[in-house]
Amino acid sequence: MQDWRAQARKNSVEVLEIGSCQFCGAPVDSGVSECVDIAGNVTHKIDHEEGIKNMTIFLCVDAHALQHPEIHGRWSNHFHLSRLELILNDKIYWNYRLSTILSSVVDDYKNRHKEERILPPKPGSRGFLSVYDIDKTQSNDEYIQMVDKWAGEVYKTYIFSHPVSKKIAKLFKEKISSNRN
Ligand SMILES: [Zn+2]
Repeated sequence: MQDWRAQARKNSVEVLEIGSCQFCGAPVDSGVSECVDIAGNVTHKIDHEEGIKNMTIFLCVDAHALQHPEIHGRWSNHFHLSRLELILNDKIYWNYRLSTILSSVVDDYKNRHKEERILPPKPGSRGFLSVYDIDKTQSNDEYIQMVDKWAGEVYKTYIFSHPVSKKIAKLFKEKISSNRN
């Protein structure tokens, strides 16, 4: 899957193929492509069911996407930051069905806020941990704790966009409660 390269071109970002990851600072040898490869495998470090139960499957995707917005579409920040808002701040126990609902909430929101952008912190200022640290963990417990810490750190670095993620989280919660009624 090389889509991320096309997205980088679209964002006029030059992808560096050597040294640390230019976006998150992961101490890899082959730059962002190695970082993306690790991210593709890291969710499988624990059993799929455990990953869902502990939400690491969602948190890893969000943390990595928000550390690498240059290789994603511009609305991806809205989705991933809002999911972190809901999981970490609002303590919503996440599952795939909720991701589908959040996608539709973000789609509606997009149509009403066409010009809005979530501006990421500068590359290298998006948290000290990276997918590299997650990949180095030795046990399920360590992995789960490290993913929580990683996602929490990344979420905090987007502080200037929390008003946006809180707005979307509110819309999401309203939608969930109206679905229940
Ligand atoms: Zn990276």
